[in-house]
Amino acid sequence: MGSYLRPSDLSEALSALSRGGLAVIAGGTDFYPARVDRAVPEDVLDISGLSELRRIKIMPRYVRIGAGVTWSDLIHADLPRSFDGLKLAAREIGGIQIQNTATIIGNVCNASPAADSLPNLVALDAEVELSSAEGRRQIRVADFVTGNRKTLRRPDELVTALLVPRGLAEARSSFLKLGARRYLVISIAMVAVVLEADHGKAKAARIAVGACSAMAKRLTELEQALAGRPLRGLGAAVLPAHLDLLSPIDDVRASAGYRQEAALILVRRALDVVGAAA
Ligand SMILES: Cc1cc2nc3c(=O)[nH]c(=O)nc-3n(C[C@H](O)[C@H](O)[C@H](O)COP(=O)(O)OP(=O)(O)OC[C@H]3O[C@@H](n4cnc5c(N)ncnc54)[C@H](O)[C@@H]3O)c2cc1C
Repeated sequence: MGSYLRPSDLSEALSALSRGGLAVIAGGTDFYPARVDRAVPEDVLDISGLSELRRIKIMPRYVRIGAGVTWSDLIHADLPRSFDGLKLAAREIGGIQIQNTATIIGNVCNASPAADSLPNLVALDAEVELSSAEGRRQIRVADFVTGNRKTLRRPDELVTALLVPRGLAEARSSFLKLGARRYLVISIAMVAVVLEADHGKAKAARIAVGACSAMAKRLTELEQALAGRPLRGLGAAVLPAHLDLLSPIDDVRASAGYRQEAALILVRRALDVVGAAA
């Protein structure tokens, strides 16, 4: 069994990471279930004691979500309406015990194709802030996750925050998830929509589909096709070809064909919901 370190100071955590060989945990709700029935061999850095990271701050340009912020923290935070979609995702992550423990950034770093945060964060143009003993850098979430369980994080770095641009604060947003049942389920397909409106018409739409490719994908051709359209009945503008860039797989949860069809219906429904609310 490996060692266990739970610092209360960020610089201590970064200094430990710089020495190498540590596995980071936050809520541990992805980390430990992947290691059931065996001793944990890794040396673990538990960041749940870093109270400075358990904050959501409204900054001039960004909403800053720290690495310790749980799904429940997000649900209860007073945030611009562009966060409604991410809050809908939060309410569907596991059960309340999981929402109380699991972090949003843990969901991002775990980089599962079925991670419910990712379509929302990609649609919101969010960035991750990476910190190490050498300094900080920022990367768009869309670029940070490079594939199934793959990210650009170096072993000496901690993701310290998500930075969500405030420019979209007044945009409407929504999130729809399809699973084999209503709750406590891994997504078969999900969609996040962020819509800016102007005088009853769509000004700019950001639409991302998850669980239908290794990483959540923006439907950029559809986004362009929606600009200037009346908000009522936006869903009718979605054509199957707009989803051609997805690459769903067959697995125990659904076939690729079912996923592609489900994604089309979810995108149409999400646009109708958000168009009616804008
Ligand atoms: C019963 C159950 C139900 C679930 N339901 C859902 C669901 O509906 N939808 C869904 O998307 N997920 C679900 N999950 C998965 C999990 O709860 C989420 O992905 C959660 O947000 C992970 O957060 P965590 O803090 O627990 O991550 P952890 O398990 O602590 O970490 C996950 C990964 O991210 C890395 N990591 C964590 N924080 C950082 C950081 N700050 N910097 C660098 N690396 C970091 C860790 O090294 C690890 O590889 C479920 C899990 C369980 C057990």
